[in-house]
Amino acid sequence: MTECKYNRCDGSGWFVPNSLNAVPCLCLKVRMARQKLGDGIWIEGGKVEVTETPLYKPGGVGNPPEIDRTTEDLFLRASYYTLRAHLRRALGGKMLDTDCLFRVTIVTDERLKNVFVGNESYAARSRKDRDYLQTMNSMGDLIGIESDLVVILLGYLGHTNKAAPGLLKEALMLRAGLSKPTWVAENTDILFQPDYPAYSPEVVYYMDQRFETVELEGFEPAPQPVTTDPEDVGLDDPPPPPARTRRAPEPKQDTKDDMGAFGNSKSDDMGAFGGGKKKRGMH
Ligand SMILES: [Zn+2]
Repeated sequence: MTECKYNRCDGSGWFVPNSLNAVPCLCLKVRMARQKLGDGIWIEGGKVEVTETPLYKPGGVGNPPEIDRTTEDLFLRASYYTLRAHLRRALGGKMLDTDCLFRVTIVTDERLKNVFVGNESYAARSRKDRDYLQTMNSMGDLIGIESDLVVILLGYLGHTNKAAPGLLKEALMLRAGLSKPTWVAENTDILFQPDYPAYSPEVVYYMDQRFETVELEGFEPAPQPVTTDPEDVGLDDPPPPPARTRRAPEPKQDTKDDMGAFGNSKSDDMGAFGGGKKKRGMH
């Protein structure tokens, strides 16, 4: 049993706020989120700090998220660490908000290829048996209906493979057939372009039709809208909410700290992910 770093529970991961129902402690949710996202996102994503992501923004305790793009097909672009930092913040925030019920599957394009061409589920079978249905079944096990969101990380294929461009499109079509969203994430250090193994004009065309591209590199949160245009405010409208309090400067965080990249680990659940009632400082 580990100590609760938020001093909320006895280390069990649960506490009883009202003597009726035990609720998961933030420490448990963080552990679960970390396990689910994997260290490739959690640790690597903690190495650069992003204060906000356009992919997800908690709405604060009791409120729906201000931004939630986990239901959309997106093509994400950023360099290696920045990409992971956004994924960590967005998916970590989503998982905390849903008590980790949100089911996300993160796969590399190499993993997809291995499932597709048979390093995993039916490597022992003869080539003759590798029919389309089996292939799709294996893909379905990996990225099917069980996943609320699938994130496909591009850039892991080392050399040309004839199946690679097809498998990416098959994966996207499988998700579309289930009406489930997918994020395709390009590491801009390894561009998704004609010399990349999973690239094909067909898959690019497919994504162009359905996926919105989101550039994450250098993303800056938009300043709070100032409603000065009188035409926007009716006479009977309530006055605009008071300006949000400016967040105190954040302490330097050790990236080894689980919650470090989420900001102030001493604040409430949502605050820890950059939402909550406090507005993160805009510098
Ligand atoms: Zn705890």
